[in-house]
Amino acid sequence: GFRCGIVGLPNVGKSTLFNALTETQAAQAANYPFCTIEPNVGQVAVPDDRLDKLAAIAASAKIIPTQLAFVDIAGLVRGASKGEGLGNQFLGNIREVDAIVHVLRCFENDDIQHVDNKVDPIADAETVETELMLADLESLEKRVPNLVKKAQQGDKEAKAAAGVLGRALDLLRDGKPARLVAPEGEDETRAFEQAQLLTAKPVLYVCNVNEDEAAAGNALSEKVFDKAAAEGAVAVVVSAAIEAEIATMAAEERGEFLAELGLEETGLARVIRAGYDLLHLITFFTVGPKEARAWTVEVGSRAPQAAGEIHSDFERGFIRAETIAYADYVALNGEAGARDAGKLRQEGKDYVVQDGDVLHFKFNV
Ligand code: GDP
Repeated sequence: GFRCGIVGLPNVGKSTLFNALTETQAAQAANYPFCTIEPNVGQVAVPDDRLDKLAAIAASAKIIPTQLAFVDIAGLVRGASKGEGLGNQFLGNIREVDAIVHVLRCFENDDIQHVDNKVDPIADAETVETELMLADLESLEKRVPNLVKKAQQGDKEAKAAAGVLGRALDLLRDGKPARLVAPEGEDETRAFEQAQLLTAKPVLYVCNVNEDEAAAGNALSEKVFDKAAAEGAVAVVVSAAIEAEIATMAAEERGEFLAELGLEETGLARVIRAGYDLLHLITFFTVGPKEARAWTVEVGSRAPQAAGEIHSDFERGFIRAETIAYADYVALNGEAGARDAGKLRQEGKDYVVQDGDVLHFKFNV
């Protein structure tokens, strides 16, 4: 599955956020087929109103949301890129995630010490980014010259890698992240992906604000939004403290509490959805009387790949996918209505799954 790594300097609210994410999960644990394997990894349900609508139409006995994994990556300190032990482990953990959720302290509170004794989310973001850029820089300084040598000897793969990673190295020397590189062609794209550069991963900034600023944000979170916009990154405002409180509440209490704070939904829901978008993921559904369930695939996935999310046998023996668009399913009040109206399509192995598709797979065992 896909993983988002939560990073940030000490005392910015990472653990509070992670615990809120996983406690919400624990409160609904009965619904989930997977359990937490590692203590710092939480499987979190992706909120999706569409799933409830589909379940209501089909009178499904069970509702199973799709999930996204969040990893609490503690231990970033200045100098991590040079460091052994903890610093290395930290960078190794980041290498394994698909996207970075970067928590920035945007709350003032004299009782909670900041590592640099001042609350400055932009400076904090730069501290973390600098460590990641230095780590990438160091690894590319070693690799690119070797690739150039191999390319000169006629190695075609090395040539593509030397090209794209050479451009990444130039950017990093210029103090810019590798994600600004645009790989050209399949070979470069593959080489770039395989390099697993830390600064190539997409970033979501989470501005952690005080309780009374959760709805509107504050001057500090605004600065982070400007920074995100300039980088083509995404930012959300969250009060980790509030989220921690909400996580322990019963579902009935939540709505009222959120309304009092002027919020339409929890910050966590926004973080989860932003993470989902950041990773270019879409949802398809399987719906029946037993259960209505949401599944995750990458944008551009074909029907057999989607089938493979459910079971590898479904992918191997794929024949076709009976497909109903979400809007048709709802407008025509379910599968029978959609079929009668000619809105149930028979799609083959080249069909590119669309967000919201309700799929029923036909396969050979
Ligand atoms: P970490 O080191 O980044 O994991 O930070 P923690 O989650 O342990 O938070 C550090 C301290 O800040 C704790 O005392 C939290 O209770 C507090 N804290 C976290 N989020 C908020 C917030 O939104 N508002 C306020 N006032 N305090 C917070």
